[in-house]
Amino acid sequence: MTNISSHSPGVKAYIERGKAMVDAESSHRTAMRGKKFDTIAVHGLYGMQAAQASQGSIIEPAYLSAAQHFENSDHMEAALAYLMPSWTYSRIANPTLHYLEETLALLEGYGYEGDVSACATSSGMSAVFMATNPFLSLEQEQLPAATAPNIVASAKCYGGTYMLFSQRYGIERGLEVRWVRDPLDLAEWADRIDNNTRFVFGEMPSNPGLSVFDIAAVADIAHQHDLPLIVDSTVATPALMRPLNHGADIIVQSVSKSLSSSGFAIAGAIIARHNIHTRVGPDELRSNFSTYVKLQPFRDHGPSLSPFSALLILNDLRTLRGKMDLMSRNTMEVAQYLEQHPQVERVSYPGLASCREHDVASRYMWLVDGEADLGEPVNRYGHLLGFTVKGGAQVARQVFDGLQMIWRATDLGRIKSVATIPAISTHQQQGDVGRELADVPPNLIRLNVGAEHFSDIIGDLDQALAQVRSSKSVLQTMPA
Ligand SMILES: *Cc1c(COP(=O)(O)O)cnc(C)c1O
Repeated sequence: MTNISSHSPGVKAYIERGKAMVDAESSHRTAMRGKKFDTIAVHGLYGMQAAQASQGSIIEPAYLSAAQHFENSDHMEAALAYLMPSWTYSRIANPTLHYLEETLALLEGYGYEGDVSACATSSGMSAVFMATNPFLSLEQEQLPAATAPNIVASAKCYGGTYMLFSQRYGIERGLEVRWVRDPLDLAEWADRIDNNTRFVFGEMPSNPGLSVFDIAAVADIAHQHDLPLIVDSTVATPALMRPLNHGADIIVQSVSKSLSSSGFAIAGAIIARHNIHTRVGPDELRSNFSTYVKLQPFRDHGPSLSPFSALLILNDLRTLRGKMDLMSRNTMEVAQYLEQHPQVERVSYPGLASCREHDVASRYMWLVDGEADLGEPVNRYGHLLGFTVKGGAQVARQVFDGLQMIWRATDLGRIKSVATIPAISTHQQQGDVGRELADVPPNLIRLNVGAEHFSDIIGDLDQALAQVRSSKSVLQTMPA
């Protein structure tokens, strides 16, 4: 940013206009922050005033233009110095993306007192990268070359995140990756952190293991060392859990998943509170991480999201809470069915009392505004579950191959039920060691329960499981 007083009167006039635009938007933001979650999801920050500038369109318009026209050179100078709201070029910013980012910041920051900003990215993986890479810069006062910086992360994480940390950061850049094997064990988090740690990262609930951790306690541990806690809460979505309220600094979302349950787009987001904890980086990074990322590293790396995708996602978001409620209730029915099935070895679903994760999950996972329409707060545990099939990998494949309605795909978060075998898909490339760390056995089926009627989902599982039993009895009657 340049010094304002060095600008000509013409440029200053645009800077003044910019201030008025910021004020108008921020008073609208304050008004929206007073509304309920569903209202925010439906409207975001796009109100009547914004619509006036868009021919009165009541839906956020898709601005597909790569670039913005400026009224004159003064306008261009003010905009490119980041001294007035503008978007300039769609790699850097775009009005449709702006509405998506503001909506995500409002939803993730629901119930949080302080300021929250967001940066939308082209995928969940680019969000994990953009949320972590800024902390890995070389610092002037770097310790001796022998002491590599390290990062502390839950081993129970998404396969892509495991590969980014272990391969790209660990092997290619020489960072030490300290995996927390049991995220429920607070002593393990504390033991891994030292003076060379750059950030603390956890996924909750994790994909595919449904592992959880005590966010508030881990945030405390990270903050004692002035480190940010970064949480990937893709599986929960802000409809069920908002880690900023429990002390997390930065949230990562794979917006491709439940946030856009239709499955029309790949997208991600970084949502951060202002004034995060960190030992490294410039002041702008600390004071407003998402905006810093957007204006600098994101601009230079270029993982921007298509405005067309942003519009489809905005449309999906409007009904987020209702969908997460229905799909969570369906998943509970399916989990209870699977738990009593003789062909099933183990069901991982934080909603089941038999699950080791149940107590911690029950502290954090609530249907947002549940008390407003159900009279009291209600726990909801999301629509992802995992189950292992008795008889090993081959039998699990038979069950999987027998599904007739539930789609076979490496996908989740969908309004349509989808199943996958993580060991041969999302977690194929990690090898046995990585799969063991992430707790991904070869007979695990990951099931994303959709919004179909639960009796039909159970019906499909039932016939697939029954086929195994009958084919096994055929095998048993055959001579060896
Ligand atoms: C899918 C997923 C990602 C990566 O998101 P993409 O949009 O596929 O790049 C990251 N974290 C979790 C938990 C995921 O499920």
